[in-house]
Amino acid sequence: MSVSTFRRGLKLPTRKHATEGKPIEMVPPPKQAVIPINQHFGAPNKPLVSVGEKVIRGQKIADASSPGPMTVPVHASISGVVKKIEPRTQSNNTEGLCVVIEAEEGGDSSGGREEFMTPLDPFTCTKEDALARIREAGLLGMGGAGFPTHIKLAPPPNKKIDVIIADGAECEPYLTTDEAAMTEKPHLLVKGLEIIMKITGVNRAIIGMEDNKKNLIPMIERELRVGEIKGDISIGLCRTRYPQGGEKMLITALTGREVPSGGLPMDAGCIVQNVGSLIAIAEAFLLGKPLIDRDLTVSGGACKTPKNIRAPIGTLLKDLPVEFMEIDYSKLAKIIFGGPMMGTAVPSLEIPIQKNTSGIILMTKEETTAEAEGPCIRCGRCIRNCAARLSPVIMNNSLEADDLDYAVKAGLMDCMECGSCSYMCPAKIKLVQRFRVGKQRLRIKQAAQKAAAK
Ligand code: SF4
Ligand code: SF4
Repeated sequence: MSVSTFRRGLKLPTRKHATEGKPIEMVPPPKQAVIPINQHFGAPNKPLVSVGEKVIRGQKIADASSPGPMTVPVHASISGVVKKIEPRTQSNNTEGLCVVIEAEEGGDSSGGREEFMTPLDPFTCTKEDALARIREAGLLGMGGAGFPTHIKLAPPPNKKIDVIIADGAECEPYLTTDEAAMTEKPHLLVKGLEIIMKITGVNRAIIGMEDNKKNLIPMIERELRVGEIKGDISIGLCRTRYPQGGEKMLITALTGREVPSGGLPMDAGCIVQNVGSLIAIAEAFLLGKPLIDRDLTVSGGACKTPKNIRAPIGTLLKDLPVEFMEIDYSKLAKIIFGGPMMGTAVPSLEIPIQKNTSGIILMTKEETTAEAEGPCIRCGRCIRNCAARLSPVIMNNSLEADDLDYAVKAGLMDCMECGSCSYMCPAKIKLVQRFRVGKQRLRIKQAAQKAAAK
C-alpha cells in the first residue's frame, strides 16, 4: 500500500510507547459528575433539570430552549441526584454552567439503570430522522471546538460531497485512544461510516491513518470483507507527520485536493469524521446511546499509570481512581487536556472530562517547552514549517501591533492552531497561544460591530 502525505509539517517524537497497544479500561462510575451544559460550538443550552431532582444515566439534562441547528443536548453520565447547577471551570479554562450530579448515598452511581433512546435502523429511516437521532445523542466533533455532527453531515445543496474520510491519524504525541478504539471496535467504525454514507448519499469512504498504525490494516480489512458493506470503503495510509490529523492535511494526503483559504472540507468535496465520532454514531443508532462516556489516553512523564481509559463525561480528574491516574507529584510540571501540541494546560485537578477530551497528559519540566520567550531572530522556521502555508511571524507582529485586520489578511482565520510554529521557534515565542487569543479578539470585535449595526 502506498503512503501519502502533505507538504511541510513536522517529524515529532511520538511518545506513544507507554500506552500503545494497551486496551481501553473502564473507569468505574464516580461518586459525582460535573457536566458542563455547553460543550458545543453554537447557541447556549439551558438546564432541563432542577436541584434535588433524580436523574438516570442517559437522561437529557440540558438543551437549547428552542433547539436551533447549531445546538446539541447534554445527558447525565451517572445516575443520582442533581446537587447544584453552578458555574465551574471547564477544560478550556473558562467558567461555564455545570450540572453537578451526586450518586445517591450508598448506591451504585450507575445503579444499573440507564435511559437510552430506542435503537433506530439507520438504513430504513429517513435522512431527517437520522440527523435528528445524531443531534439527540449529543454528538459533536470529539477532538476540536465541538462543531455539531448533524450540521457537518448536512452540507448545503450547492456543496457536492463525494468522499467521506474517517480520521484515524491521531498525530498528536502521546495519544493512542483512536488506535485502541480502532483495534477494539472496527465493526462499529465501519458501521459508523456506512451510516454517514447512507445519510449523505456518498458512495466512497477512506479510513485514513498514519503509517505507525499499519498493524491495524489486516484487522480493518477483515472487517471490510465480512458482511455486506454498503459502499466503497478503503484504507489510506499517510506518513507519520504532524499535523497529519488536521482535516485539511488529511484531505490533501488522501485525495490530492486542497481546501481553499477560508474554506471548509466540503469546499473540497469531503466530510471528515474522527474515528471516535464514527463509533459514537454507530452506538447512537444500534444501542440508542447518547454521548455520555469518553475514551482518552492518560500519559506523560509524571504519570505512573499510563493507559487508555473510558470514563463517564463529567468525571473530575481528582475523582479518577489511583489505578487509572497516579500522579508523580515530584515530577509534575503541567497538566494538559488533549494532546501537548493543541491541548490546554489546566490549573488544577478540579476539571471535568468532557466530550472533546482526547487525553490527559501529566508533563514533566523536561517534556514542556516552558522556556522564557526571546526576541524574534527572523529565522523563518515558523513559515517553513506551517502546514497551512501561513506566515506566523507576520501574523504575530500584526497582533502585537494591535492590527487585527492585517493579521486576518495574513491568514489568522486559516490557522488550525496545530502549534507547529511555536514548537519550532528557537526564540520560544508563544505563537499559537497568541493566535488563539487573536481569534477570540476578532470574534468579540465582530460581535460588537454586529450589535452596533442593529
Ligand atoms: S500558524 Fe497556525 S497552522 Fe501554521 S504552524 Fe502555526 S499554529 Fe499551525
Ligand atoms: S520561528 Fe520564531 S524566531 Fe524564527 S521567524 Fe518565526 S517567530 Fe521569529
